[in-house]
Amino acid sequence: AQERKRKKKGPSKLTFEEIGGQDSAKQELREALDFLIKHEEIRKFGIRPLKGILLTGPPGTGKTLMAKAAAHYTDSIFVAASGSEFVEMYVGVGASRIRDLFKDARTRATKENKENAIIFIDEIDVIGGKREGGQQREYDQTLNQLLTEMDGIYSSDTPRILVIAATNRKEMLDSALTRPGRFDRHIQVDLPDKKGRKHILELHGVNKPLMKEVNLEKTAEESYGFSGAQLESVMNEAAIYAMRDGLLNIEQRHLSLAIDKVMMGEKTDRESSV
Ligand code: ATP
Repeated sequence: AQERKRKKKGPSKLTFEEIGGQDSAKQELREALDFLIKHEEIRKFGIRPLKGILLTGPPGTGKTLMAKAAAHYTDSIFVAASGSEFVEMYVGVGASRIRDLFKDARTRATKENKENAIIFIDEIDVIGGKREGGQQREYDQTLNQLLTEMDGIYSSDTPRILVIAATNRKEMLDSALTRPGRFDRHIQVDLPDKKGRKHILELHGVNKPLMKEVNLEKTAEESYGFSGAQLESVMNEAAIYAMRDGLLNIEQRHLSLAIDKVMMGEKTDRESSV
């Protein structure tokens, strides 16, 4: 968790080609990003700049990968944070962290001579959840600061800032966040279908010694409902099984065993959290 919480900075090397499946999500995202690239035209047409993209979908489907690939595609500085980092006991700390995040993105982009900066906020629902019955929560200030920062993004400013946020619970978000001019572009990142699963398995199998006979189509069929993160685990577990067997290559049965293992692991995780 610490690893995930750490702020990641700098240019991203990850490309859309390294994301398996998700064809329509990738396409939609690229189209949205073209707005950032074609900023001159956008301005001529008087089109409002794109400030926020919301990626929604189940955990482990590649939302973070999408944001990184977006940074690579647009040659942007990539700065990432998670919603939970902004929840603090002390009022105002979350808000000042948001301010710092935007400041940091601008400073780094200027320093590294980049025209664009992408700020990725995972688990946006933690700070942008619905406010119920006018109730003030201690981190409302954090949300307000985020809205203020987004309202202060102008297309004429350089570096141009784009905020990409991710959530598994879109319905939980406060409508202030999803209003036009804020996170008004929503892209669904779903669990992969069979073709997508095969593609993800192929990507994660590239650096692994697979037996020639291995049929990833079959593995894709057997892993119905798995996320990209789970498929990555399947490949990894299969390699561990093969190694334990003292073999040089991964066989089909190792993949099948790995599917069971990942499925069982998820089950025990869920049971222990109930
Ligand atoms: P969360 O909602 O839990 O933050 P996420 O949707 O952001 O999850 P990622 O962090 O992007 O998911 O994915 C986790 C890992 O799973 C990736 O580092 C990668 O190894 C693997 N993965 C997930 N989706 C894909 C995909 N479409 N193609 C290739 N690998 C994937």
